[in-house]
Amino acid sequence: MVTYLVENNLDEVEINPKNGSQNPVRAIAEKHGIALDVLIDESVKRGLLKPYPVDMLVFCPKCGSSTFRLRLKCPNCGSLNVTRNTLFSHVTCGYIGVLEEAPRDSKGRIFCPKCKQELLKEGQDWVKIGVNWRCRDCGTTFAYPKPLLECVACGAKADENTLVYRQVYRYKVDKKIASDLYAQTFSKRVGEVLAAYGWTVTPASEIKGVSSIPKNATLLAERKGEKMLVYNIFPREGNVEEARREVLNALGAALDGAFNHLILGVKTPTQVAKMPENVSSIEGGTLEEVINKLRDKLTKEKH
Ligand SMILES: [Zn+2]
Ligand SMILES: [Zn+2]
Ligand SMILES: [Zn+2]
Repeated sequence: MVTYLVENNLDEVEINPKNGSQNPVRAIAEKHGIALDVLIDESVKRGLLKPYPVDMLVFCPKCGSSTFRLRLKCPNCGSLNVTRNTLFSHVTCGYIGVLEEAPRDSKGRIFCPKCKQELLKEGQDWVKIGVNWRCRDCGTTFAYPKPLLECVACGAKADENTLVYRQVYRYKVDKKIASDLYAQTFSKRVGEVLAAYGWTVTPASEIKGVSSIPKNATLLAERKGEKMLVYNIFPREGNVEEARREVLNALGAALDGAFNHLILGVKTPTQVAKMPENVSSIEGGTLEEVINKLRDKLTKEKH
């Protein structure tokens, strides 16, 4: 997950319940055999992702479809025989009544029931005062009818009490935390590979008071008296220039010639015109690629 977020330099991710397995985050969860919800919860708990709601989707309680026909019903008796009443005032004569009940002719012109003049321009000779609804069956007047959703797929009916809804979230990526976690994974993977080839690996941060160890090194690897400093470099928070600077710093540190140096760059160019003899480098577009190349290199050196 962290690898995906950092290597794609993502600012945010969206989990939409509708677009199933096309979602890369869902694919990651499946690959690792964990539920998507668990993966997301865990990422939120670690501060890697910060959720914010962007949408709400409504689903049929019977078949899960999300396509509905909307019906409006009376909140009192449930009848669908409801009608909208628009209250209006005819400014010209002072009449107040229901617009839908005013007489109209075949051309759609509406006339004032009191003075029989045509209603000409809304906001001038007549104004809307408000809207309410009325049930023709039980006579109740109400502000809003109740929605009744009819599922297009299976015909089931659902209302606000029975419909299934799900919030759609987007998640902001905390790039600092993502980079920190990525650095941890990077160190762990590299450490494992080196250990498999007989190196004893110590995080450089744990070696205190050894002035010959440059601050920017990630790992110190030792084997049979041989010492090698490893630099794990990737664009932290998407910053490629900073990563490039780290490479130059590592090359600078190599100049005193005391140790061998290995620069590992993910999405970071590590080659320079004149590579010092005690420096080797590996670069790749992903951590996976760098790890594989490192394994190949160590295998070759063995033979
Ligand atoms: Zn349905
Ligand atoms: Zn009613
Ligand atoms: Zn009138």
